[in-house]
Amino acid sequence: MIGAIEAGGTKFVCAVSDENFNIVERVSFKTTHPEETMKNVFSFFDSYKELKAIGIGSFGPIDINKSSTKYGYITSTPKPGWRDFNFLGEIKKHYNIPIGWTTDVNAACLGEYEMGSAAENKSCIYLTIGTGIGGGAILNGNFVEGFGHPEMGHILVKPHLKDNFKGWCPYHGNCLEGLAAGPSVEKRYGTKAQNLENNHEIWQILAYYIAQALVNYSLILRPEKIILGGGVMKGPGMLELIKEEFNVLLADYIEIPPVDEYIVKPSLGDNAGIIGGLILARKLAFESI
Ligand code: ADP
Ligand code: ZN
Repeated sequence: MIGAIEAGGTKFVCAVSDENFNIVERVSFKTTHPEETMKNVFSFFDSYKELKAIGIGSFGPIDINKSSTKYGYITSTPKPGWRDFNFLGEIKKHYNIPIGWTTDVNAACLGEYEMGSAAENKSCIYLTIGTGIGGGAILNGNFVEGFGHPEMGHILVKPHLKDNFKGWCPYHGNCLEGLAAGPSVEKRYGTKAQNLENNHEIWQILAYYIAQALVNYSLILRPEKIILGGGVMKGPGMLELIKEEFNVLLADYIEIPPVDEYIVKPSLGDNAGIIGGLILARKLAFESI
C-alpha cells in the first residue's frame, strides 16, 4: 500500500492505493486551519498500518531545499495559519516511512508524465490556471528545480491593448497570475469568470497572457509537451484561443511538435495530482537505493 496527499489551498485530497495505483480509498476535505486539516489527514492514514510510503504534492511556496532549516515547510503563503508551517515535519512525526515532498503542480506534472498526456514524452510542463497560476516541469525524468522550485505563475507579461486592469498579485501587480488567474476576472468585472458569455473579450485577453507565458517556457525549457489544467481552462474555447495566440507570438522561431499535440489538457483530469503523489510514493517505497 502507498499513500498520497494532494494539498491544495482550497481542498485536500488523500488517497491510498496498491502498488499498481488501484485506489483503495480516497477522501477530500476543505483546507481549514493546519491543526484541523492535519487531524483529518492523520485520521485517514492511521487506519492503513501497512503503508510503505506517502507522496505529498503541496500548495506553496514550499521549501524543497534539503539543506535549508525550513526544508519541508510551506513558506510565504498568505493563507491564514499556513505560513511557515512544517508540513513534512508533521507528517514524518506521525509516520516512520519514506515521505515524498514536492509542489502540487510537480505532482500533477509527474502524474501526466508517467501515466497521462505526456506518457510518451521525455519532457513536459504542467501549468494550472485556477485561483492562482503555478507550473511544474520534468526534463528527462527529473523535476526542474534549482535554489527552489519554479514559480511559473509570476513571470512578467506585456499588457493586452484592450486590458487596462492593473493586476492583483500582491507582489507584482500585473504578473501572469495577477492578470490571468481566475480571480482577476472577478476583479475586472465584478462577477466570476464562469458567468461571462462565450463571446466576451476576456477569453481572448486571458489567452493572450497565457500564450505569452507558454512561448517563454517553450523558449527556455524546450519541452515536448505543455499540459494546461485548472478552472480557467474550462472557459469557452480557451485551449483553441491559446494555441492560436501561441502560434502568432512564437512566429515559428523554434521547432515545436504540431501545436495540437504540444499544448493539451491533462488526460488524467483532476486526478493528475493525486496519481502523481502515488507515483512519488511508489518510487520511494520500491525504487530507492
Ligand atoms: P483551485 O485553483 O483553487 O484549485 P480551480 O482550478 O477550480 O481551483 O480554479 C478556480 C478558478 O477557476 C476560479 O477563479 C473560477 O472562477 C475559475 N473557473 C471555474 N470554472 C470556470 C469556467 N467555466 N470558465 C472560466 N473560469 C472558471
Ligand atoms: Zn506575481
